[in-house]
Amino acid sequence: MANKTSIKELSLISGSPPAFSEQIHTNKPSSNNREVFKKYIDNIFDKSWFSNNGPMSIELEKRLKQLLEVKHCALTCNGTNAMLCVILALELKGEVILPAFTFVSTAHLLTILGIKPIFCDIDPVTHNLDIAHCYSLVNSNTSAVISTHLWGRPCNIEGLEELCRTRNIKLIFDAAHAFNNTHKGIKIGRHGDAEIFSFHATKSFHCFEGGAITTQNSDLSSKVKKILNFGFAGFDEVKTIGVNAKMSEVSAAMGLSNLSGLEDTRNHSKQVYDIYKKRLANLKGIKLIQYDCNELANYHYVVISFDYKMIGISRNTLLRILHAENIIARRYFYPGVHKLTPYSQERNILPNTDELCKRVVVLPAGSNIAFDTVEKICGIIKFVTSNARELDNILSHD
Ligand SMILES: *Cc1c(COP(=O)(O)O)cnc(C)c1O
Repeated sequence: MANKTSIKELSLISGSPPAFSEQIHTNKPSSNNREVFKKYIDNIFDKSWFSNNGPMSIELEKRLKQLLEVKHCALTCNGTNAMLCVILALELKGEVILPAFTFVSTAHLLTILGIKPIFCDIDPVTHNLDIAHCYSLVNSNTSAVISTHLWGRPCNIEGLEELCRTRNIKLIFDAAHAFNNTHKGIKIGRHGDAEIFSFHATKSFHCFEGGAITTQNSDLSSKVKKILNFGFAGFDEVKTIGVNAKMSEVSAAMGLSNLSGLEDTRNHSKQVYDIYKKRLANLKGIKLIQYDCNELANYHYVVISFDYKMIGISRNTLLRILHAENIIARRYFYPGVHKLTPYSQERNILPNTDELCKRVVVLPAGSNIAFDTVEKICGIIKFVTSNARELDNILSHD
């Protein structure tokens, strides 16, 4: 049942049919250019060129360089390997500072490489690295800061650039969320020593799986391009230690076919965001993250901060209710990387991260969700918040 008028109509309470017959995930991958993609696939078979810098990858690299207005772009098999190649190319060692309120992949890479991840707190409003805390963590072992443009909203780029310049350390941006977004009118991709992107199926622009490294530094670019292909500099010449992080032709073809729909994707995601904004704006205790309307943003993430004290029901109870209705809202990046098993031995004091981990809910959004689905989700959230205390009474004892 879509519009709930009584608590008994909630699936979690009464076992009545959920609002949606199929699960609605946070970001269902977009796949609206199937015919274009099929043509590219025919092309790939005709040429029998499946990987190793084939025509699809060359074309995608060229198009991305133009789109992102960067000097250099290197495609990779995913975002994690893009980050690995940059870390290897910059020869990071010792300690690297990064947020704990982000995806776990970079902490894993550092740990595998024998580099110690040092978790830095975030600003409670921007959700991005807290510069003052970052300064306090720098010491003579620090070799870099790796900062995420969380939800696609640019970090304090100038502040981090100054910190890294004055401390003589490297700066990498994890731009996995920030594809085709701008900071002060300039596309994300050219800041710091390098930026990396993820083109995973769930991201705003995708290649099934894929990634890219962008940089303005020619030496770094040529080094990274060797590293992502086993260090090869020619048929029989290996110049450096490397990995296999190449993008395949089929992934590049998916990227090319998705590029043609990029503006539609952005417009749809923005409209989804606007519905949430309109419908949730007046709910006490729910704060929707804002995107700067003077910048380009992909609006891929719709994130609310849920004030359990003000609303009278816990964030987790809200999620249980939504999940029972097949609305698979999520608590990214719970519980924070610093609290995940491999990293929880060290005592990290990150109060803003801990608080946000209790409050954040990521709602179904993006380019592949129907507007009326979003309306229904808003209706259920509204219903839950207006019956919060009663629901909390029933459900908090389960
Ligand atoms: C998705 C993501 C990654 C990892 O990218 P993959 O392409 O899945 O390897 C890294 N960082 C952030 C912030 C991400 O969201």
